[in-house]
Amino acid sequence: MRFTTLASSSSGNCVLLSHGERHILIDAGISSKRISSALSSLGLSLGDIGAVLVTHSHGDHVSGLPAFAERSGARVYATDETLDIIASDMPARCEMELISPGAGFSVPGFEARAFCVPHDAPGSVGFVVTASGRKFVLATDLGIVTPEVLKAAQGADAAVIEANHDAEMLRNGYYPPTIKRRIASGIGHLSNDACGGFAVKLAESGAGTLVLAHLSSGNNTPELALDAVGGALERGGIAAGRDVRLFAAPSFGVGDTYEV
Ligand SMILES: [Zn+2]
Ligand SMILES: [Zn+2]
Repeated sequence: MRFTTLASSSSGNCVLLSHGERHILIDAGISSKRISSALSSLGLSLGDIGAVLVTHSHGDHVSGLPAFAERSGARVYATDETLDIIASDMPARCEMELISPGAGFSVPGFEARAFCVPHDAPGSVGFVVTASGRKFVLATDLGIVTPEVLKAAQGADAAVIEANHDAEMLRNGYYPPTIKRRIASGIGHLSNDACGGFAVKLAESGAGTLVLAHLSSGNNTPELALDAVGGALERGGIAAGRDVRLFAAPSFGVGDTYEV
């Protein structure tokens, strides 16, 4: 199994997962046109995508979904609460599957399971995706790392985890106070430091590859995120680069492809 971030920021999120000739997306928060050109840069086309797993209903995760589902014919998997919000925008002939956190489901080429994340969109989830005995986890858009998130992510071989903001940059930045409070809250976004603690737990449970994602363009930089999480790993006795490979996903454009 391998994965590639096609976009990862507050202005759009989309991750490609591949297993042999099977391909799925997690989220479609960039235009169908951008997804299409990202896929073609990887030698794929819209029709190659069998499914889209949707984390939640915020625009940066679903803005391209209706057009993408229409053009690709991919089946859409989402929780009840998310489907409730997005259904009216979806094309009539789109096949939508209801998923429940904690219950496993199959998509062609993969086994998957959603887990609840604390975020300010109803029914927000992260995903565990497994194939050929390897485990991939995506956990972005979460205010805090709950015991439920940790339990689900435990034992992942590779993970995409949120390092949204540097707490000091957010505090001193230009965002209005209400937005600052929302981002820093328990149902907002994960800070670099909180991500560091999460990364240590994942590395301790065997993760070999961690990709930091959903970096805020106004309140973070890849260097700050990598420094904070790398520092946490080091303090936890884990050597970044040897015990675990640590990367930051580019906000815009296609990232590198990683083996799970
Ligand atoms: Zn988001
Ligand atoms: Zn969100």
